[in-house]
Amino acid sequence: MQGLMMGTQLLISTLIEHAGRHAGETEIVSRRVEGDIHRTNWREVQQRSKQLANALLAMGVKPGDRVATIAWNGYRHLELYYAVSGIGAILHTINPRLHPDQVAWIANHAEDRHVFFDATFLPIAQAVAARCPTVKSWVQMTARDRMPAAQSATPTALEPLCYEELLAAAAPQLVWPSFDENTASSLCYTSGTTGNPKGVLYSHRSSVLHAFGAAMPDAMGVSASDCVLPVVPMFHVNAWGLPYTMALVGCKVVFPGAALDGKSLYELFENEKVTFSAGVPTVWLGLINYMKQNGYTFSSFRKTIIGGSACPPAMIRTLNDDFGVEVIHAWGMSEMSPLGTTCKLANRHLTLSKDLQLRILEKQGHVIYGVDMKIVDPDGKDLPWDGVAFGDLLVRGPWVVRAYFKSEGGDPLVIDADGISWFPTGDVGTIDPDGYLQITDRSKDVIKSGGEWIGSIDLENIAMAHPEVAMAAVIAIPHPKWDERPLLVVVRKADSTVSREDLLAHYEGKIAKWWTPDDVVFVEAIPLGATGKMLKAKLRDTFRGHKLPTA
Ligand code: ADP
Repeated sequence: MQGLMMGTQLLISTLIEHAGRHAGETEIVSRRVEGDIHRTNWREVQQRSKQLANALLAMGVKPGDRVATIAWNGYRHLELYYAVSGIGAILHTINPRLHPDQVAWIANHAEDRHVFFDATFLPIAQAVAARCPTVKSWVQMTARDRMPAAQSATPTALEPLCYEELLAAAAPQLVWPSFDENTASSLCYTSGTTGNPKGVLYSHRSSVLHAFGAAMPDAMGVSASDCVLPVVPMFHVNAWGLPYTMALVGCKVVFPGAALDGKSLYELFENEKVTFSAGVPTVWLGLINYMKQNGYTFSSFRKTIIGGSACPPAMIRTLNDDFGVEVIHAWGMSEMSPLGTTCKLANRHLTLSKDLQLRILEKQGHVIYGVDMKIVDPDGKDLPWDGVAFGDLLVRGPWVVRAYFKSEGGDPLVIDADGISWFPTGDVGTIDPDGYLQITDRSKDVIKSGGEWIGSIDLENIAMAHPEVAMAAVIAIPHPKWDERPLLVVVRKADSTVSREDLLAHYEGKIAKWWTPDDVVFVEAIPLGATGKMLKAKLRDTFRGHKLPTA
């Protein structure tokens, strides 16, 4: 027998309708690429999204068409999030930090019809336009006075359309169409650290359910009383779903645009009284350094979610102890929309000492309802949740990928002995008896020494806790006897003269002796990828020939 409740579809348009109607006056502040601070609100974004949807329909956009963006976090990008998905087309967010060849590859693979870009990214548009035959129009996300001068003198150059002109010419009235909630809504490509990037195609249903899950108190825990500044870019896994979650709760929003340096971020945090933020660890390094150098504190900022790569415990402690900011360590991936786990204490942890509580909070955390996970051995057999056994991490749930766009890479799922399908994350971890996940490594970064595994994240965290270390990576170096051994790659803090011996001594008593790196090399900088993660494959290439003292 079927239930007798309404079959209202979980559509992304319902989020902007909700925010426009119930949080209409709540502000959306953007630092624009034009250089100024722009103020709008949820009602205006709702109205302009509808106008933009009409403009897209007039441009011939059909359900299922891919409309791409190459843009920073800002209100126009938010309008595109709602206008494109709202009419059943697919928002394809392109990461501008990729090489133009990769941008062109992705745009062609996605068969993008239209590309909307921020003025800053005009050079990318110009570099790739001729190589993107499916793209019918390029739209610069600005007003006429900021458009490039007429380019008739250079006839081969791109002649973009003007965003504000498109909007001005479109009717403001629109009733969002209703369709199946399983319809595709947006497309993000994984960073392709192994092979070509693969497209993850989210649906309206997965995005709305993820927004519900993310807003929950033990996940991001954001509410209408918050002022949220998403540092994580809207071109990286939909800014961890925040454009949807923020509408769902109707909070104030602050978009940082292109200015992600410590000074610019700090100004926005303070001027706009930001309470909540989200970003990868590397971004917080810049902000923390800037604040320490100037002796600044936060007046309103109270909580941030950090993920995308392991958040060093030293960073959790600094933000907590020195700046009064609660860190929610989170784990996930593009294939998971991205949230899988978030780390918050349970009631039974409240009587523990602060130190024991912090040790729990350093883990990647507990699954959010909707996601299920398990760890398995190389034969696919379940491993115990004892906080010690580590194995391949598998996940499932309504916002977890089941296949890549255009079936790239074949069927990614594995089926367990009970006939249940799981997505193998490529991560390795432990799960403790309380259900808290700790990521040991990505399987391709794990160091295989004498038949045993050494997790690089633990070793990096210890190095990062040294007061003179600015950044640290641990990579596997081939070894004639042990197969692989760990090499510590360190960026010293300014003026530091910390030595190899100091750093190796720093490991004593903190880990099994055989986990200690065999050597230390000092570098000016560690290469970061397009989403701010350390490029360990590149480091492995650089140091492939490194002669370990024990080899
Ligand atoms: P890509 O796989 O394209 O680099 P993602 O941004 O989706 O893109 O990265 C997901 C990966 O990032 C995870 O599989 C995991 O290895 C790593 N990761 C994410 N969050 C954490 C975390 N909190 N701790 C450790 N690793 C993390």
